[in-house]
Amino acid sequence: MAVFGGTFDPPHLGHLVVASELIDRLGVDEVRLVVANEPWQKVGSRPITPAADRLRLTRLAAGDLDGVTVSDVELRRGGSSYSIDTLEAFAAEEPDTRWLLVVGADAAAGLDTWHRADDLRALAEVVVVNRGGDERDTPAGWRRTRLDIPALEISSTDLRRRRAEGRTMRLLTPDPVITEIERLGLYLSEA
Ligand code: ATP
Ligand code: MG
Repeated sequence: MAVFGGTFDPPHLGHLVVASELIDRLGVDEVRLVVANEPWQKVGSRPITPAADRLRLTRLAAGDLDGVTVSDVELRRGGSSYSIDTLEAFAAEEPDTRWLLVVGADAAAGLDTWHRADDLRALAEVVVVNRGGDERDTPAGWRRTRLDIPALEISSTDLRRRRAEGRTMRLLTPDPVITEIERLGLYLSEA
């Protein structure tokens, strides 16, 4: 089981290609997109879209893709979102499962700073996905697999900027996500 956490503000094809490659190349049976309630690494740097809206967008992005599910466990728990709390909750329900924690290379570099990093290291194997030429190493001590995907320079930051500037988001995220962003009136001013 692969757990792929993020702010998903908004979700995009970069996220979905990661999920698809995990299934195709690593034989993962389920990729669980876990929407952060309060992403502690981002709070304070910019206003974050309400979690319920990001959850809705992420469900639309996952659509009916085989093997890709969306979890609201961090919204239900409330407060700051820590991967270790989420993985422990999942592992309590499915004790015999092998847990993969999926991170882009940018996020992998900071793993040692994550909440209760020692417990996380013990519980999960990390899958590091290449991202935009970010060649920083994963810190030592983590059980780690690399997954090389076609590099896609797509980010939520770029999508928010496009929307604020009135440029197109088409083909960078699924059409239903774009329609919902417009309906909710999100990202109209650049943060
Ligand atoms: P932002 O620009 O707001 O930081 P983001 O595009 O990085 O958004 P996040 O929700 O922060 O999206 O990312 C969640 C996870 O997905 C992270 O582990 C990140 O490294 C990974 N990720 C996001 N986009 C890509 C991509 N294009 N290729 C590979 N990994 C990605
Ligand atoms: Mg990011």
